[in-house]
Amino acid sequence: MLTCQGVRKEFGGRVVLDGLDLTVEEHRVVALIGASGSGKSTLLRCVNLLEELDDGSITLDGEEISDPRVDPDRVRRRIGMVFQSYNLFPHLSVLENVTLAPRRVHRRARAEAEAQARELLARVGLADRADAYPDRLSGGQQQRVAIVRALANSPRLMLLDEVTSALDPELVGEVLAMIRDLKADGMTMVLATHEMGFAREVADQVCFLDAGRVVEAGPPAQVFGEPTQPRTRQFLKRII
Ligand code: ADP
Ligand code: MG
Repeated sequence: MLTCQGVRKEFGGRVVLDGLDLTVEEHRVVALIGASGSGKSTLLRCVNLLEELDDGSITLDGEEISDPRVDPDRVRRRIGMVFQSYNLFPHLSVLENVTLAPRRVHRRARAEAEAQARELLARVGLADRADAYPDRLSGGQQQRVAIVRALANSPRLMLLDEVTSALDPELVGEVLAMIRDLKADGMTMVLATHEMGFAREVADQVCFLDAGRVVEAGPPAQVFGEPTQPRTRQFLKRII
């Protein structure tokens, strides 16, 4: 469903993605792990066309989306992205946050968008928070709303960048549970994470990034249990 081939990205002459290859099958969950600065966020931003490639290509559902002639907005309608900082609009209620894009971008009628939003919120236990403003919610609730907001666009692919990193430890579980449910529903996801236990549990494929390349990729049991690359072993020894 998603293929990155030889993706290269530089910032001011500094190579951040160095000929990176990645393939994601439909309904699969791919976890990106690697030290801070290894290029995980930049890769997700490239897939969502928030960054222009310096070389290589990215294909989504058979379409080369990295082609500069492609309309990024049209591509982003098929991709849901959630960041570490939830980025909810503070002046909008939960319901307004979730229905904004479906109404403005997808031109859905208000009643239809709200019905869908309420259903999504109910599914994650936030039905009673629909009219609340973000500052009345816990960090975990805000992040779950941010994920619901991304889901409201009915994306083909979800990109999750360290979505639990800003949360207090006791709030991490509820967000991970939501991602687990999404996987059970068959959502295709690429997630950058520091949560090795979670990557191990939820990912079909784990990709270890080092200096802008996928150094090692495979099922979690293999990458965590029998890493073949010295750099992977070093990284895992340091953090586990
Ligand atoms: P990760 O998410 O794995 O921690 P990032 O993709 O955020 O890594 O960053 C990889 C490298 O690219 C880092 O050295 C970072 O400083 C650099 N970088 C990321 N975005 C920019 C930018 N917009 N301008 C300059 N350097 C950047
Ligand atoms: Mg990052």
